This record gives sequence, C-alpha cells and structure tokens, in this order.
Amino acid sequence: MRCPYCGHTNNRVIDSRASRDGRAVRRRRECQHCGDRFTTYEVVEQRPLSVRKRDGSVEPFDRNKLIRGIQVACTKRPITLGQIEEIANAIEESLETSESGEVESWQVGERVMDHLRDLDQVAYVRFASVYTRFQDPEEYLDAIRELAARQGYDAAQLDFLESALEEERPAKSRKDRGRPK
Ligand SMILES: [Zn+2]
Repeated sequence: MRCPYCGHTNNRVIDSRASRDGRAVRRRRECQHCGDRFTTYEVVEQRPLSVRKRDGSVEPFDRNKLIRGIQVACTKRPITLGQIEEIANAIEESLETSESGEVESWQVGERVMDHLRDLDQVAYVRFASVYTRFQDPEEYLDAIRELAARQGYDAAQLDFLESALEEERPAKSRKDRGRPK
C-alpha cells in the first residue's frame, strides 16, 4: 500500500479493527519512510453472479426470480416460504463458488430440482415440466409416469399431476402440436 504523503510502499500496521458492522477491517498504517499515518479498509469483493441463458444471453443472478419460480411450483403444496427461501439461499451459496462468476441457467434449474425432489414430489414434477421444456406433452407424461413408477406414487396423485399438466402446459406446445388426437 503506497503512502499517500511520500509515495513509499513500506509501512506497518499499527492497529487493526472491525468496521462497518464487521463487513470491513480498518487498518491504521504507519509509513516507514516519512512516519506519517494513514488508514486503509479491507472489504469482501462482491462479485456479481451472472446467469447464461439457453439463448446465450447473460443476465444478473436474481434471487427473487429464483424464489418466484420455486413458489409457482410449490403452489398449494405444504411448503412454507421459509423453506423456499432456504432452498434459494443454499442454491445461491453453491453458485457463488463458481470461479468465473457466471453459471449456466441449467445449473440453477438442476439445483432447484435436486432440492425439490427431496422436499415434495409434486412441486418437483411441476418445476421440472416447466424447466426442462418438454418438446411434446407425451414426453412430459412419460417422465411423470417414470417418476411415479420409481417413487411408487398412488394413482390419485398421478391423476392430479396429469390434470395439472393440462392447466400448465404452455399454449405454444398446444398450438404447435400438428398431430391429431
Ligand atoms: Zn510516507
């Protein structure tokens, strides 16, 4: 650290203490050339986290958007906002270890699915249905059936999921489906 008075870089720290509610460390330094004292602050570097989307565009990571996405999947399920926030916290924390500061949108989605899979099967399937954007509704139903078979669902819950699909299927896939029933 260069002395602001004489420009020399040799100095010693004479005092060091927490500052700004513990978010910074304040250090008093004494220049070993001119003897003057000055103060430096050390703070954590806040690196903004970016998400690269499927279309290649990059946007800042948005915790609220993540929470809304999970909330939609958890509609009318016995899951509290606190649980959803915990998931968002865990995901955000795991993403912040990314060295580049940029993550792919699928990495965010996979993490949400990992958490929901353990928490609530219905919320998991709802999220997965939107997130993975099945090309064909049949594919989606296959995935539900596969999951149901694996998890030993009862038939009533499976029916519920299929009717949920009817409501939640994006209009686009309905329109684009050229195949008559
Ligand atoms: Zn100096």
